[in-house]
Amino acid sequence: SSILGGGSAGTIVPGTASGFPPFEFVNEQGELVGFDVDLLTAVVDETDYELGEWSDLNFDTLITALQNDQIDTIAAAMTITEGRDETIDFTDPYYDANQAVLVRENSDFRPSGTGDLADRPIGAQSGTTGESEMQALVEEGVVSESQTTAYENYVLAVQDLVNGNVDAVIVDTPVAETFVADRPVVSAFTIETGEQYGFGVRTNDDDRQQALNEGLQAVMDDGTYEELTRKWFAS
Ligand code: GLN
Repeated sequence: SSILGGGSAGTIVPGTASGFPPFEFVNEQGELVGFDVDLLTAVVDETDYELGEWSDLNFDTLITALQNDQIDTIAAAMTITEGRDETIDFTDPYYDANQAVLVRENSDFRPSGTGDLADRPIGAQSGTTGESEMQALVEEGVVSESQTTAYENYVLAVQDLVNGNVDAVIVDTPVAETFVADRPVVSAFTIETGEQYGFGVRTNDDDRQQALNEGLQAVMDDGTYEELTRKWFAS
């Protein structure tokens, strides 16, 4: 798509946070894989940039890593929020999500709304919009602060749910579906948050932002995006 190509514009070093299947996770071979990994690779391939080495970090350190130039973009199913938009920029949206409330399959507890979570121990991953929903329940007096746990990643949160240490986990709907398919958990209800994911870029890094937006448009137009959704999401 370019005359020069081959990374002549420079490098885009990507950062992510594994433990968020199917967007980014470490497979049985120990490789970092997922929808975001494939999508960003295809997107950068459409640009004059070269894709650098992936950094796998904790989700709640990604924005700092971007600001410190440790990485050049965040590809971590990160929701475009007003708060984050104050410190970094985002590409155009590439995926929609809401929040699901996961509970154990082998229990009678089937909450149908946030009120039913009253006085239950609940969890979410640190630094996420799911954690924000959890904090909102503290502010509404549904649960107390001491009943909430913020985990390093969602794999640990769901493990603690299965083990009975928390009674519910609040997590993005597409990721909840993956856990439901693989673990003894079910989605009890959904909180309609209307989130959209974007790739994060540094404020003022207009060149990378524009290149990624053009690359995103190209993979959406040529069918690559759809192919990747079929590869990574059960229909
Ligand atoms: N979309 C959610 C957020 O941005 C969760 C992302 C994640 O855990 N990787 O907070």
